[in-house]
Amino acid sequence: MNTARAELGASKLEELRFDNSYGRLPPAFYTRLSPTPLPDPYLVAFNPDAADLIGLARAEAGRNEFAEIFCGNRLLPGFDPLAAIYAGHQFGGFVPQLGDGRTILLGEATGASGRWDLQLKGSGVTPYSRMGDGRAVLRSSIREYLASEAMHALGIPTTRALCIVGSDQPVIREDIETAAVLTRIAPSHVRFGSFELFSSRRQHDHVRTLADYVIDQHYPQLREAAQPFLELLREVIGRTARLIAQWQSVGFCHGVMNTDNMSILGITIDYGPYGFIEGFDWGHICNHTDHGGRYAYNMQPRIAHWNLYCLAESLLPLINMEEAEEALEAFGEQFELNYAALMRAKFGLASGHAEDTALMQDTLKLLHDSRADYTTFFRRLGNFDSASDADNAPLRDLVVERDAFAAWAARYRLRLALEAGTDAARKARMDQVNPKYVLRNHLAESAIRKAADQRDYSEIERLMRVLTRPFDEQAAMQAYAEPAAPGSAAPAVSCSS
Ligand code: AMP
Ligand code: MG
Repeated sequence: MNTARAELGASKLEELRFDNSYGRLPPAFYTRLSPTPLPDPYLVAFNPDAADLIGLARAEAGRNEFAEIFCGNRLLPGFDPLAAIYAGHQFGGFVPQLGDGRTILLGEATGASGRWDLQLKGSGVTPYSRMGDGRAVLRSSIREYLASEAMHALGIPTTRALCIVGSDQPVIREDIETAAVLTRIAPSHVRFGSFELFSSRRQHDHVRTLADYVIDQHYPQLREAAQPFLELLREVIGRTARLIAQWQSVGFCHGVMNTDNMSILGITIDYGPYGFIEGFDWGHICNHTDHGGRYAYNMQPRIAHWNLYCLAESLLPLINMEEAEEALEAFGEQFELNYAALMRAKFGLASGHAEDTALMQDTLKLLHDSRADYTTFFRRLGNFDSASDADNAPLRDLVVERDAFAAWAARYRLRLALEAGTDAARKARMDQVNPKYVLRNHLAESAIRKAADQRDYSEIERLMRVLTRPFDEQAAMQAYAEPAAPGSAAPAVSCSS
């Protein structure tokens, strides 16, 4: 046996152990089926960090079988592939039946670091595909791969990405593209919509079975509570409040916050038409099919709250309505507390003062009025000279109105005077929370173009290296911190992405 591998306890593909606890739930929860074969698959991207999580030896990515396995052409012993059924509120309207229309759950890898669902996304039609072809295109697979790892590096709970396998098989979208399969991993892919399915069908025994399953697998500490189902709701509310506060603080827009895209674990799931805000706009809409702006940036907290109402409603067979409403009412405060703490850190404020909320809101208004680049502004804010404005030109250059900037800078300086410590110490703290690098659409787009047009996957690798150290200066990578060149067309992203 290879000693390095033995030391790490990492396994060869065939040595991985799998279980599928979801597959032990009643048959009404899923359909067992095999992935649809993908012709001539090849490896496009591999993420060693995710391999470590499931206990897979990194060198295994070099084997010919690897691409065959992670596009679904070949099954490993212990795989138990199935597509889960769920429902959901899409753009406010209830859809009684949805499901894994293009993903297949292979099972849970049961390595040293817990149980990890392995899901193939783009692995062919299932009974829940509706009119879809069951495929994902290379473009959207690269977008999800990069975004989920970038979010993880920012400290935001998310599904992770193991690899992308490509094929020359054509797939028709707005243009003709090629197929790919993304393998993603997460402790669970159960969604709010999984509960909504059974409650809308009045299958209360299944609602209970699912709630019991989620508690046993993911919230075992709630088992002993007097009211475990109510506590489950409270936990999901708390985690979702924290998650959305994190999204808001880094300027992440999900784009399609339907209840079937909301995780019961409070992690970011189903990356589609997402975007990181560049020129700051409260009402930024990243999904070009979201005409009404239902999922605009400033709507995300409200929508999360609305989605949690849907979840609570589906749990009503198990919990008391007044207590559920009380739990839901706590969302706003939990979101605000989390958001305020994250934003105070972004502003370099270690203490809390009554006027902080107003200062932070007015700063965002300053950014909004100039459409100043959100990430750049906060990174440069770390260099703010509290003694004089002479050195604050790089920050001032992001704001159109000179007088407005001067008034704001004077106010921020007064606030900083209430803080202990030096400018240098504050900058060091701020650089740990204000990323220099986020996944800008044009960066993803250039990696996609190289991959799709030239089969050159090096830009995916390079971008991944930059994005997984978002707080480090990485002097040679300055270009990756820049917004798109003015006038360059932003790629449109939609649900079909
Ligand atoms: P989304 O909002 O992108 O998460 O997708 C909503 C629903 O549509 C999910 O149930 C997906 O499984 C399904 N879906 C999306 N794209 C496809 C596709 N190409 N083929 C089959 N089903 C799809
Ligand atoms: Mg989805």
